[in-house]
Amino acid sequence: MSLIVQKYGGTSVGTPERIRNVARRILATHREGHQVVAVVSAMSGVTDNLLRLAREVSPEMPPSERETDVLLATGEQTTIALTAMAIQALGGEAVSLTGAQAGIETDGVHTKARIAHITPGEVHRFLKDGKIVILAGFQGRTPEGFITTLGRGGSDLTAIAMAAAVGADLCQIFTDVDGVYTCDPRVVPDAQKLEEISYDEMLEMASSGSKVMQSRSVEFAKKFGVIFEVRSSLNENPGTIVREETMSMESVVIRGVSLERNQAKVTIASVADQPGVAARIFGAVADANIVIDMIVQNVSKTGVTDISFTLSKADFESAERALAAVLADLGPGAKIEAQDGIAKLSVVGIGMRSHSGVAAQMFKALSSADINIQMISTSEIRTTVIVDEPQIERAARVVHAAFGLSA
Ligand code: ASP
Ligand code: MG
Repeated sequence: MSLIVQKYGGTSVGTPERIRNVARRILATHREGHQVVAVVSAMSGVTDNLLRLAREVSPEMPPSERETDVLLATGEQTTIALTAMAIQALGGEAVSLTGAQAGIETDGVHTKARIAHITPGEVHRFLKDGKIVILAGFQGRTPEGFITTLGRGGSDLTAIAMAAAVGADLCQIFTDVDGVYTCDPRVVPDAQKLEEISYDEMLEMASSGSKVMQSRSVEFAKKFGVIFEVRSSLNENPGTIVREETMSMESVVIRGVSLERNQAKVTIASVADQPGVAARIFGAVADANIVIDMIVQNVSKTGVTDISFTLSKADFESAERALAAVLADLGPGAKIEAQDGIAKLSVVGIGMRSHSGVAAQMFKALSSADINIQMISTSEIRTTVIVDEPQIERAARVVHAAFGLSA
């Protein structure tokens, strides 16, 4: 008998029929003789709708974060009750638990709380009784007992953290895709499903556009060594195993290619090459709560330099506004040039650490397709370029093929 933690995301429980489907799957696992804790998300669209309602009743000010948590937690609370009912209707024994009831204690940072510890006594008690436990994802409680939520996509974190806390033998993340692919199959039709991927590669793929899971949950899994599988709730195909890297993983140079659209680039040209200028620029952007991505500063020969950075297109205008306000402090000739319509392409693989020539191979593939590279950045296990958005799909295909990832 194994203890299995499963997680079903919003699309997997998006309709009553889908909840029945999930109930059948949970029940089948239980009937194989396993103990099951199933973490469920809110039905798809529910969290967004609740957030919309909150804004509608509070147009004068952002809705309070404490009350936002009380509100959002109802989404998952709905699903646990419905899933438990569906299992019961199919002849199984299930009991629902909220995050608080399952002993998930967090700090008091509402809407993005961190899990402090889990006391899963209640969970163990019900499992020992032969019950299937249906656990609300995305929520916990403060030491005082107030409801908190774990940030968007937080049901993944609930599943990983609960798997660690109960010492699960297996953690399965069920979603609406078959696993992690070498690239988005809608862009690269011959992309392949990966059998396994390391935590670090999964995190780099997520931060460069291929988000399958909440990144915090992958970081948590890495920290506590929780091995998990990402697979589909709509078929029986095996998924992708995510784990600490193994020796054999290193021999693969590139694990995958990810792309991110809707990027923008801001260049502040002719800024003074003196201490404090970069701090001024990025301080202003940070104060406007804008997350930036790549940063490039040119070498200066004449006492002035150019600094460019990329960011999401959604933050483009507020960044321009924030910079306009400090432009005068950046040097006499400083000016802002901004451009959207660009996209980001990355190749990711831990094998990059021990193989040379990865960047060269990527650039060669792009050049043979006559695609211009506008910016480049690298990490230990990732090489990223910026290209014109209309070229991104073609760029992904040529790079994917150049690294031999195609089926
Ligand atoms: N319902 C929450 C959200 O939409 C949590 C989750 O789905 O994981 O972000
Ligand atoms: Mg979700």
